[in-house]
Amino acid sequence: MEMDFQISLVAPATPEAVADDAVEDSDAAEDSGADGDTSVYDLIVIGGGPAGLTAALYASRNGLDPLVFTGHMPGGQIANTERMENYPGFPEGISGPDLAQRMVEQVTKFGPTMLQEGVRTADFSVRPFEIASSSGTYKAHAVIIATGSFPRRLGIKGESEFFGRGVSTCATCDGFFYRDRRVVVIGGGDSAIEEGLFLTKFASEVIVIHRRDELRASEILQKRAFANPTIRFVWDSVVDEILGEQTVTAVRVQNVTTGETSLIDTDGVFVYVGLVPATKIFRGQLELDSSGYIVTDRLLRASVPGVYAAGDVQSPSFRQAVIAAGSGAMAAMEVDRYLAEIADD
Ligand code: NAP
Repeated sequence: MEMDFQISLVAPATPEAVADDAVEDSDAAEDSGADGDTSVYDLIVIGGGPAGLTAALYASRNGLDPLVFTGHMPGGQIANTERMENYPGFPEGISGPDLAQRMVEQVTKFGPTMLQEGVRTADFSVRPFEIASSSGTYKAHAVIIATGSFPRRLGIKGESEFFGRGVSTCATCDGFFYRDRRVVVIGGGDSAIEEGLFLTKFASEVIVIHRRDELRASEILQKRAFANPTIRFVWDSVVDEILGEQTVTAVRVQNVTTGETSLIDTDGVFVYVGLVPATKIFRGQLELDSSGYIVTDRLLRASVPGVYAAGDVQSPSFRQAVIAAGSGAMAAMEVDRYLAEIADD
């Protein structure tokens, strides 16, 4: 069964929905028209970002008939990225949604079964493995997990209350609403600075609040941010509360060296304090590291034979679309070998 995918920028309802697209139930699943079937697939790919789509591409092109759960926003994190300048083959850069759309089109050409829905449970204690979504339970001899990661929450007062009412983790989705407004960006990594720069297209002022006095972001992003007159930095400071009424009106900031607190008026708060792997449904079934990432060997084999992990869910070190795509290809090639081995047994 093939589906006609179109990538568009859709603001996720919650930050978790970005990553849990690939792993949790979604309303889209009810609409997919798909019923669980009795066939046993060679491979199920869980995840529709660069890792999952590349795994699906390689597997289908190698003659397997994989079933792919893309989540309800295929493309993963790149679907929320305004511009990709470091994906090879696009000297002028390419918009994240365009790149995601191209990946989906390329995979679809090779005819895998693609479901635009999330996975609810995975059972790796039975053979074939059982993967369930709201449309049914599906079986496969091998599984590639490429569920990625989702934005970490600060866990401060006001963050959940105002989420979607001034608090966001997606400038590409929500930046438009802050035309001529002042916004705050929390964090000092690549995401904070890249998204902060994006927000300068709309906002009258972007205040980056960072807990240290130097950024973690790459040199090129730092240079751009320091040269941008719309961005102001508040160093050595953490936000300990987000305040508002109907929507956000201010953040309370504490200087970590002096202990002083102050209020900064703002209409929006964009939180970029790192990412958390989307592995909740695999807990207790696969070995995870202390941060929740799936532990694999260098061939991307997880702790259960026949289960592989690719992309950000397996490696927090690089978090680059090109690396996720490469590891998706590796996992698919390894699955090919694994299936040949079990066929010989
Ligand atoms: P990150 O690199 O882990 O940076 C997180 C930032 O949030 C850091 O500056 C960190 O401060 C700060 N932070 C963490 N916990 C905090 C807390 N509780 N309160 C206040 N601040 C806190 O995460 P990211 O920026 O989302 O990037 C994730 C990965 O994706 C990185 O590997 C990054 O290179 C990659 N990425 C790449 C690109 C690109 O290549 N263009 C774009 C986006 C992301 P400290 O610095 O003090 O730890």
